[in-house]
Amino acid sequence: SYFRLSKPLIMLWLTYIVVTHAESQPWSLLQAPKELTLKLIRDPVTLSLASTDYGHIVHDNPFAIFAPSSISDISDLIKFSNSLPIPFTIAPRGQAHSVHGQAMTSDGVVMNMTELNEFRNGAGIVVVSDDASAPYADVGGEQIWIDVLHATLERGLTPLSWTDYLFLSVGGTLSNAGISGQTFRFGPQISNVHELDVVTGKGDLVTCSAENNSELFYSVLGGLGQFGIITRARIALGPAPTRVKRLHLFYNDFSAFSGDQEHLISFNGRNETNAADYIEGFLMLNQSPLELSFYPESDRPRITSLVTQYGIIYIIELVKYYDNSSQEHVDEDVKLLVEGLKFVPTFMFEKDESYEEFLNRVHSDELILRSQGLWEVPHPWLNLFVPGSRISDFDEGVFKGIILKQNIKAGLAIIYPVNQTKWDDKMSAVTPDEEVFYVVSLLHATGFDQLEEFQAQNQQILQFCVDSGIGIKQYLPQNKTHNEWEKHFGPKWKIFNQRKAQFDPNRILSPGQGIFN
Ligand code: FAD
Repeated sequence: SYFRLSKPLIMLWLTYIVVTHAESQPWSLLQAPKELTLKLIRDPVTLSLASTDYGHIVHDNPFAIFAPSSISDISDLIKFSNSLPIPFTIAPRGQAHSVHGQAMTSDGVVMNMTELNEFRNGAGIVVVSDDASAPYADVGGEQIWIDVLHATLERGLTPLSWTDYLFLSVGGTLSNAGISGQTFRFGPQISNVHELDVVTGKGDLVTCSAENNSELFYSVLGGLGQFGIITRARIALGPAPTRVKRLHLFYNDFSAFSGDQEHLISFNGRNETNAADYIEGFLMLNQSPLELSFYPESDRPRITSLVTQYGIIYIIELVKYYDNSSQEHVDEDVKLLVEGLKFVPTFMFEKDESYEEFLNRVHSDELILRSQGLWEVPHPWLNLFVPGSRISDFDEGVFKGIILKQNIKAGLAIIYPVNQTKWDDKMSAVTPDEEVFYVVSLLHATGFDQLEEFQAQNQQILQFCVDSGIGIKQYLPQNKTHNEWEKHFGPKWKIFNQRKAQFDPNRILSPGQGIFN
């Protein structure tokens, strides 16, 4: 009878052994070859740094941080994990500028990609320009874009496609897409890569391109870190301009604003050389503090009253690059670009900046925010791709119907259209299936006291899109359930799964995305 009574207890105890054994798998890491264990860091301060990201919303404690000093280290660690009965997860971490734990792992190993740079002996970015081929740069996956910019500018060259902020790693942005105001013209950063070196989820180092090992190449681009770790990317370059004309055009009417944006990104009657080089847009909202530093002081009062009058103002940001050879006609080029646009008369503002100053513009904001203690705060961001055919419904329902009506100070809201033809559907990145779709980024920064309000607002926006049948796709997606991921990838879900089974069958890589783990 004693046995009968305690049988459930024994079962419970056995379950406990099994579960704790499974959970403590990372400890078997300590039995890894010494070359690997020497590179594991487990001090509490480093562990806690790797348990958060730019979002400050998700916190996952890794078992250890791995500091690779070579590509073979990366490969060896992945192979070691695969050799265990229960492999541990590995999260490559670029700059951890994700906002929802995408570069984290709970109980696994965070691969600190930045460490690699220490061992590149200055060869982390190699710029190649000879007569034999179009110029390119071979760049380590751990490198950050600001350093790529500096290295290429030294040779009078530049990547063509950017993100708004340059302190992001090459591996991190290529795992998403890498988008900005140049995307309409040159495609996302993933469309500007010739070749990659990737350590797959099996630990194999593979060089891949559209011609060789193309399945891996297309999987990894926009692949959310699921198939392999990018250790080198060959990036397309072009001649670098030296300066830019940067314009802001104000609109109080959404259809005039979006009509003009779409006109500017279309190449109707325009060849690429006289098109704009960059088109973005953003909102000024009455309920949020206005950021007016771009405008002459004498114009700020009339800008403020325009926003007060309409509650919401839409601004097109248009940039035209130039250099010594085009300096003479750049003003004429700009005049032609804005001719016939329907912005509020006299509400056009222009700045002349160096190319680098323009590309690195967000860093100036970063320095100000850091000095005010407002950089390391929660960032409940929502990034969406909205089909062009439904953008007016989105404006009515979301900008005017939700954001404007709620009494919380919205962060920066960015909106600009891009051309789907510049994206390659073979890649893992997903977009709405329309020729023109809009990037909408709601970039809130808040205190912990208001975090839930913003998260609720984001949910409300997503629900509004579902209820209204607006087929949005999330960029930098934050899906949680299997169903949400399946829906996100749509027709690509099957191939995404097949690719996972092929390149990372034990589901080791980038568990923080929450797709397979
Ligand atoms: P991490 O956050 O470190 O990693 C992102 C994902 O990629 C994780 O799943 C990680 O495991 C995986 N990963 C990291 N390195 C590798 C690698 N070498 N190989 C394979 N997988 C890897 N994005 C845009 O497209 N356009 C913008 O204009 C833009 N502006 C931004 C501005 C700010 C201020 C911030 C904070 C972010 C911005 N982003 C923008 C988002 C940014 O591109 C992504 O968050 C990107 O992932 C950041 O790169 P990271 O190095 O910080 O990546």
